[in-house]
This record gives sequence, structure tokens and C-alpha cells, in this order.
Amino acid sequence: MSLLVADKVSKTYPNGTQALKDVSFSVQPGEFLVVIGLSGSGKSTLLRCINQLHPISSGAIHFEQHQLNRLQGKALRQQRSRIGMIFQQFNLIPRKTVLTNVLAGALASTSIVKSLLGLYSEQQKQQAMRYLSIVGLEHKAHVRADNLSGGQQQRVAIARALMQQPKILLADEPVASLDPSTSHSVMKYLQKINQELGVTVICNLHFLSLVRTYASRVIALKDGVMVYEGAPTDIDEQWFHTIYGEDAVEVSIN
Ligand code: ADP
Repeated sequence: MSLLVADKVSKTYPNGTQALKDVSFSVQPGEFLVVIGLSGSGKSTLLRCINQLHPISSGAIHFEQHQLNRLQGKALRQQRSRIGMIFQQFNLIPRKTVLTNVLAGALASTSIVKSLLGLYSEQQKQQAMRYLSIVGLEHKAHVRADNLSGGQQQRVAIARALMQQPKILLADEPVASLDPSTSHSVMKYLQKINQELGVTVICNLHFLSLVRTYASRVIALKDGVMVYEGAPTDIDEQWFHTIYGEDAVEVSIN
């Protein structure tokens, strides 16, 4: 059974921009799905529509047995807590320690008062340390987040998302702010949590070379329309130009 299904999803922003047009695809448990396309093609909108950060205009998003776009209140929060997200700019609290940032990921299972007071259980702290060790940063637990490099900050963001014990992790251009070698390091940690913890990943990426290395399947958006769905190895030169335009030249990140 599919873990996630997008069924004819369309999204029009209040200003009239139609960012997604009848996008349909399904995601099986354990996949590492990569979404590609030019800047402005709708990739970020798609991820935000999946976890209902943006309401969709028509169509449906099914997650496990639930139609997410029909849920509200507690029921929506419950389902959404199983969908983690990381962002291009990491979105950590800079002046707080790495451990506090990771613990913030437990918000869905902690009362607001407790989290504001920093009253996390011993079990939550152990869990946070475990996820920090998975991303190779347990030795940085008590360092301020803004003392870490960009790649390390993104790894903290991955550990924070893991605190939700997500079924799916949405990664919105997770390496767009990083240099090439750091990009691979972050992608390898995403691959690790996909393969070892079984977390399904949906990741927006810019560079095709990364797509070919890490994706198990690819979808491509162009002006909000899904123009490709298939294996990364099947994206030949013709497909490349269909997706990125006639004048595009492939650059690789090594
Ligand atoms: P990508 O992630 O592929 O760069 P986006 O999903 O960010 O693409 O954007 C898709 C389209 O929607 C673009 O035309 C963009 O300008 C527009 N858009 C994105 N966010 C908003 C918003 N909050 N309000 C209005 N238009 C938006």
C-alpha cells in the first residue's frame, strides 16, 4: 500500500499564481523520491502542500489511511507529526544548544509549557542524543547551534526532525546553501536514515548529479505540471532539456 498519494493536486496562491496543476503521484514506504525542476517550478509548494503548511486548492493528499487535506485540529496535528521537514536554511534556534534544538522536535509529544520551560523527560533526552549520534554530532550536543558549520546545522535539523519519529521526511532543497563536499555529507545522512531507519524521504534537489546518486525515483515539475516520473538513470539528454529547457547545460557537483 502507498504511504502517500497526491491525487490531482492543484495549488493557486491568493495572488492568482497557479503553482501546481493536477499533480498526481504515489510514494511507497522506504522510497527516496527526489523532486526536480527549475526554480519556480513548484517543488517547494508541493512539499508544503503535502504536510498542509499550504492548503491545496483542489485534489487530495492521502497519507496512510487519512485524507490529510480533510483533517483539522488535533487529527491534523497528529498525522502531521509523522511528517518531518527540513529546510534550505536549517531553521535552527541559533543561540540555543544543539541538544535543545533537537529536543524542540519533540514538540508534538510535549506540552507547550513543558517545552518552554525545557522540561523534557530523560527518555526524550536520551532519544535526542541517539539521533545526534546517528548524524555524527553527539560530541556537539552542548555547543550553541550558531557555532556549527552549515552542513553540521543541517544534520542537527535532521536529528530534530527524527524526534517526531516521522514516517516521511520532506527535505526542501536541503543542500542548496552548502558547498559540494558538505552537500554529499548531508545527502549521505539522509540516505542513512532512509536505509537504516526506514524513513521515507521526499527531497527537492537542484543538481542532477546528486539526483543520480541518491534518488530511488524521480519526479520533475515544470511550471507546476509533472512532466517526468521514473528512474534517475532514465533521465537522458532529451529528458534533461524537456525538464530544464533547450538552453540548459548540465553542471555537476562532485
Ligand atoms: P520552486 O520550489 O520549484 O522554486 P515554488 O514552489 O517556490 O517553486 O514556486 C512556484 C511558483 O509559486 C512560483 O511562481 C512562485 O513565485 C510562486 N509562489 C511561491 N510561494 C508563493 C506565495 N507564498 N505566494 C504567491 N506565490 C508564490
